[in-house]
Amino acid sequence: MTNRIPCSADRLDLLDPEMIQAISEASAFLIARQYVTEKRVRIVEANHSQISSTVIGKAGLYEQQINLKDGHLVSSCSCSVAEDPMCRHCMAVLLEYHRWTSQPEASPSSSRKGSPSRPQTNSKTRAPLTLQSSVPDIKLSEVLTFVEWLQHAMKAIEKEQPLPPAPAIDGGEVSAWIIAIKSLEDRRRETETVLATLDAELRDRKAYAARLTQQLQASMADLKTAQVTTRDLEHEVDTYRSTLMKLGKLTQEVAQHDEQIRMAAREILDKGSHFDKVATSFKEVAAALQAVAKTTPEP
Ligand SMILES: [Zn+2]
Repeated sequence: MTNRIPCSADRLDLLDPEMIQAISEASAFLIARQYVTEKRVRIVEANHSQISSTVIGKAGLYEQQINLKDGHLVSSCSCSVAEDPMCRHCMAVLLEYHRWTSQPEASPSSSRKGSPSRPQTNSKTRAPLTLQSSVPDIKLSEVLTFVEWLQHAMKAIEKEQPLPPAPAIDGGEVSAWIIAIKSLEDRRRETETVLATLDAELRDRKAYAARLTQQLQASMADLKTAQVTTRDLEHEVDTYRSTLMKLGKLTQEVAQHDEQIRMAAREILDKGSHFDKVATSFKEVAAALQAVAKTTPEP
């Protein structure tokens, strides 16, 4: 998250806790102060206009970059916490920077005037800022215990086994290192679990897509068959239609022929009766001729 807010102060060490609290969400400010108390803040490099730092948050280690430039305080953090106008981690860094610059022994006059690379270059005899500001009392025994634990932890990580229990170290920077390593390892495991889940989901989806593709191909084949069948049916319907039309014409023709046959039959019947009359007349004529023949004397 990156935030940019107007700022009247011209040096980062002038931002005191009251000013920071005045612009913060109350809960975020409380958490920020707790982080400072628990020594979770590590200032990597700082001067009065910029700070590079890391903070061990609730879910791991976050990096911050804070700049004071052109009357604006620009803060960015690798976390995704949506707090306005800046996240708890950036606030914790400002509180820690103010705390550190307020300590007389930790702030020689040369550095308080704001030399750009003050924290790490102003004196060869000084320890790095992180140790001076946050952990003035690291014990060698704790470091040795930590290194021993770290060796076991590295082996456990290589074998993908749970990290060994943390050694009994009473707070301080070394304890913060262990918390940071544990939280990083927890996040790595969470990420692996998420990746495995995503991988399984991806495989499921690929299989589902393959099934869908098969179904689609089968449907396409069915569709083609249906199209062919439809074309055949259309062709048959056309054939039936033309046959029906031919039948209609034939029926008309048959009806016409029927009428012609009836007329011809009537004509034949009429002619038949006429012939009957003519035959009767011939018979009468023949009978008359026979009668005439009988009455005529033979020579
Ligand atoms: Zn943050």
